[in-house]
This record gives sequence, structure tokens and C-alpha cells, in this order.
Amino acid sequence: MGVAKQLYQLQEVDLEIEANEQTLSRLVSQLGKNQAVVEAQAKLTSEQQRLDELTHRQRSAEWEIDDLVTKITAAEEQLYSGRIKNPKELANLQHEVDLLKAKRDQLENKALEIMGQVELAEASVTATDSESKKLETEWHSQQQQLSADIEALKNKLSDLGHKRQLISAEIDPQAIGVYGKLRKQKGQAVAKVEQGICRGCRISLPFSELQQARSGNLLQCGSCGRILFLP
Ligand SMILES: [Zn+2]
Repeated sequence: MGVAKQLYQLQEVDLEIEANEQTLSRLVSQLGKNQAVVEAQAKLTSEQQRLDELTHRQRSAEWEIDDLVTKITAAEEQLYSGRIKNPKELANLQHEVDLLKAKRDQLENKALEIMGQVELAEASVTATDSESKKLETEWHSQQQQLSADIEALKNKLSDLGHKRQLISAEIDPQAIGVYGKLRKQKGQAVAKVEQGICRGCRISLPFSELQQARSGNLLQCGSCGRILFLP
């Protein structure tokens, strides 16, 4: 096998290694990230706080209503007891009862409104809680899949590394040196020659270069410097 073909095969393995290494580092960077779960939990905490606050307001309103009802009962008891004879005093007491009842009605409306808000907040908490749990479960299984994929990629890379060793052991070290330098400079070190054109720079090769390339020996493109490989 000519050295150009050997280097071309080496390059194919190297490109595969490169692609797999990129995938591996992308997967590794995804390990442990649970942004969606963190966000859902933060949302749940804030919704839970709102629910607590509303529940507290509802209870306060209910206590205030109880307090008013006690006052109304006591005032009415006095009003209808017959103990108060003075008409002005009776009228004042009646007025007081009316005011207390108006206030109670107002508070009852407010309490109903809060109750509606509490129900909505409870529904939100329940929905966010189950969403958060669902995301967490998904995240755990994704992480497991990720770990398995990473493991498989590492094995594949180890196989490729072994394959690379076997191929490069067969190649003249000087040629490997030229190849390595070009890989660093250009990414692609070996270019195929197709229809008399270097696929690295797309320039037609002179007849003399084509003939040398046909021999399979190490020959660099006069234009881009890549090692020419004529399949
Ligand atoms: Zn070229």
C-alpha cells in the first residue's frame, strides 16, 4: 500500500476520533445540568408562598367576621332585651348594629374573593408540583442515558485509538511527521485527487504531479501543500 493511501486511512480514523471527541465533550457538559428542574422548583416555592399568604389572609378575614358576628349578637341581644327604654339610645344602638352588619357583609365578600384566589393558587401549586416531579424523573432518566452514551463513546474512542496505533505503526515516521504538521495547520492533511483536481484546494494538478501521485508516494499539492491521494 502506498504511503498516501495509508495516510488517508489514518486521517479517516483521526477525523472519526475528532468527531467522537466533540460529541463526548458535548455530552459531558450536559451531565449534572438540571436547569428546567431548578426553575420549576423555584416557581413552586414562590407559588407555595403566595398560597400561604392567601390562606393567612383568608383566616384573618374569617376571624374578623367571627368577631363582628359576636359583636352583632351582643348588640342585638341588648337591642331586643327591653332593658333600654331611651329612644335615642335605642336608635344609636340600631345604627351601630347596621354598621356592624354592613361591615360583616363587606368582609364576607372579601373572604369569598380570597377563597377563590386560594383555590386558584392551590391548583397552580398542584400543577407545578407535578410538573416539577415529572421534570425531575425525566432528568434522572436522561442523566442515566447520558452516562451510558458517554461510556459507549469512551469505549469507541479507545477502539479508535487502538486502530490509529495499528495504522500509524505501518507508516514511515517521517511521513507521519509531515501529516501531523499539516493536520495542525489545515485540519485536513490528505486530499483526494479526483478528475485531476486536488479536492483540498480544487485546483487542477499539473500532469507531472498527477503522475507522481499515481505512484502512491508522498507528494504534496503544489498549490495547497496537502498530501495527495489518488484512489
Ligand atoms: Zn491542493
